[in-house]
Amino acid sequence: MKYQSTRGNAPVLEFGDVLLAGLAEDGGLYVPTEFPLFTTADLGSFTTMSYAEVATRVLEPFVSPSITSDDLGAMAEESYSGFRSSDVVPIRELPTEFGANRYLVELYWGPTFSFKDIALQLLGRLFEYELSRRSTSVTIVGATSGDTGSAAIEACKDRDGIELVMLHPHNRVSDVQRRQMTTVGSANIHNVAIEGTFDDCQDLVKGMFADSRFRERHRLAAVNSINWARVAAQTVYYFTSASQIAGPSKPMSFCVPTGNFGNIFAGFIASQMGLPVERLVIASNHNDILTRAHSSGVMQIEEVQPSTSPAMDIQVSSNFERLLFELSNKDGKWLRAAMQTFRSQRELELESSVLSKFRENFDAGSATEDEVDRTIKDYYLANGDFVDPHTAVGLSVIKQMTSLPGPMAVMSTAHPAKFDEIVKRATGFAPSQPEEIAVLSDLEEKCTELPNDLSSVMDFVAKAVS
Ligand SMILES: *Cc1c(COP(=O)(O)O)cnc(C)c1O
Repeated sequence: MKYQSTRGNAPVLEFGDVLLAGLAEDGGLYVPTEFPLFTTADLGSFTTMSYAEVATRVLEPFVSPSITSDDLGAMAEESYSGFRSSDVVPIRELPTEFGANRYLVELYWGPTFSFKDIALQLLGRLFEYELSRRSTSVTIVGATSGDTGSAAIEACKDRDGIELVMLHPHNRVSDVQRRQMTTVGSANIHNVAIEGTFDDCQDLVKGMFADSRFRERHRLAAVNSINWARVAAQTVYYFTSASQIAGPSKPMSFCVPTGNFGNIFAGFIASQMGLPVERLVIASNHNDILTRAHSSGVMQIEEVQPSTSPAMDIQVSSNFERLLFELSNKDGKWLRAAMQTFRSQRELELESSVLSKFRENFDAGSATEDEVDRTIKDYYLANGDFVDPHTAVGLSVIKQMTSLPGPMAVMSTAHPAKFDEIVKRATGFAPSQPEEIAVLSDLEEKCTELPNDLSSVMDFVAKAVS
């Protein structure tokens, strides 16, 4: 398997290089030059395999020749044995209030209770493996609005060859999210609270990468959602859930609470690999650029408005570039110009051929904050159970998709206890805390507060990793 940049102007690489490189040299994202194809018989065989076995089968073509199938299998086994459900990704049928033949795919039973664990648990092990193979080390720097930080820390703690510096906006992540990051005592984990917003944190990370001397000296690496290995790892649960819900040959639809477009894009890749997918439904909160683009054909950046589903408070969904690349028949030259226009004019009109393919594969809908609250309450009244606000965006949107036939699953992306204040406000009751979350408030927190200033952060990184 070879990987090329979406902007067509960077060297073609293999998996191990792409894993460590993050962004391509030309500013594009790495994608496979072609996709492996699974037959109906292959898909049928998945129904009797464990999650880790399906992961190994689905991912081995992507990691070859850098990583052998046996080594991949061992890493997948370890990654998913720590999940709090023996199914890894359990499925339940939704109450009829949400329509007939509707399901919830629970992606949040990993160590930090969000779907980010599914990819990052494997990614941490892939990094350690590849670094040891090359006898080198890296400094991973990242910015988080909440869930990515804890999942990355949990995945990388105590791993050989990795120092991890995670920036979060001071006082702007939930208490649970902060404690999940700052109570991990490992020597290779360094938390920084920045006096600023999530965007400020992201700009600081970009600033460090843009300084080539600094980048090379500390061998900076990234685990954000532009890393191809994350997208690949997320394709696996589309295969396992479709084989359980619809079987190997019947098409089904998925509705996905969307921020950076990594989760739903993995569903699209699964469809390119032979999984019969009817429709992929983009569910947005009031930051609905993709939903507007789907109906008008124009991607237009507006100000980010904070919401109760903060992981989806995004205007520029980084993985959407990968979709545009596929829909334009891999036209890197066109995409390079298009992304430049988008950045400078904050607006991009989609070409009619690209737009019609977008609409052939995807539907889109959005939910207001009131609808999210009402959905959390409706779900509680129908089921006596809780969903988190991100999942509630997905549930609000499938109620709008009454014309879509056949089985459809909403991807449930976080445990409700991570967002207990919002759930309590909507229902009057707080979800019970899993033991692992409840104990966090007794643990000592370790975190450094820094101003929103690049040189202060660079000084901190240099000292922390030396
Ligand atoms: C990250 C995240 C999302 C958005 O996923 P993308 O892959 O960025 O589209 C949705 N819900 C939760 C809880 C998340 O943590």
